[in-house]
Amino acid sequence: MKIVKTVDEVRVIVKEWKKEGLTVGLVPTMGFLHEGHKSLITRAVSENDRVVVSDFVNPTQFGVGEDLESYPRDLERDTMLCEEAGANLIFNPEPENMYFDDFSTYVNIESLSEELCGKSRPIHFRGVGTVVSKLFNIVNPDRAYFGQKDAQQLAIIKRMVRDLNFDIVGCPIIREEDGLAKSSRNTYLSKDERKAALILSKAVKLGEDMAKAGEKDTDKIVSEMIKLIETEPMAKIDYVQAVDAVSVKPVKEMTAPVLVAMAVYIGKTRLIDNFIYEG
Ligand code: AMP
Repeated sequence: MKIVKTVDEVRVIVKEWKKEGLTVGLVPTMGFLHEGHKSLITRAVSENDRVVVSDFVNPTQFGVGEDLESYPRDLERDTMLCEEAGANLIFNPEPENMYFDDFSTYVNIESLSEELCGKSRPIHFRGVGTVVSKLFNIVNPDRAYFGQKDAQQLAIIKRMVRDLNFDIVGCPIIREEDGLAKSSRNTYLSKDERKAALILSKAVKLGEDMAKAGEKDTDKIVSEMIKLIETEPMAKIDYVQAVDAVSVKPVKEMTAPVLVAMAVYIGKTRLIDNFIYEG
């Protein structure tokens, strides 16, 4: 497996693969990989001849005061995980190689970006749309893989690929044994916070069970989830909301597909989780 740092190197390698008629899968990540990322890579390996994993903490999706500097990084460990999963290439650029000083072109997915996480992270999805578009242009993949863990991101990217004619594959959330959704940010949690963080997946389970039992009123589901989260003193809710899974606009009734998503601070760490009600 190769690790390359520049856009030009990736392009040369992928061009060679394409000349040989090989298909290429892309898994965009910010690194510090775990089983969640691995599930995407494994899926990509099973569906493509060659797989590129991008490992890049993308500065344009972090707002002022967010965790760009402290975001965990460990390329050596990431390399082992990618190798194990059967990836062929890691693209690990420096920010300077992705963004010129006078970079001035952004991909903004209107309307969907303003909901849920977009309220407290106003430039986040513009950064995501931009970097994912850049990666699509650099790697020119046949398929790209994204996790349901970042449900709003997935909905937004689905809209972007529909609007701009790309192609992607969504993959389910991978969880720790006790239910916590795997996340590179889980590493910020102290022992006590790690325990407290379980309240997110417990709330997801509660909401999901209510929906499965036939509850149609999203307000009832969300308020029960909020009540449960509020029993955890270390948790501070950013939002818990039910939205249409395609448009990301708030809905009052559980008419599938509905995305019930949350962002909750455990101490200083902002965690997200969700479920999709498919009916
Ligand atoms: P990140 O490195 O956090 O930007 O994530 C890169 C990709 O991995 C995104 O498509 C995420 O949705 C996906 N991902 C992260 N955590 C998980 C998880 N626990 N289960 C499934 N996919 C995940």
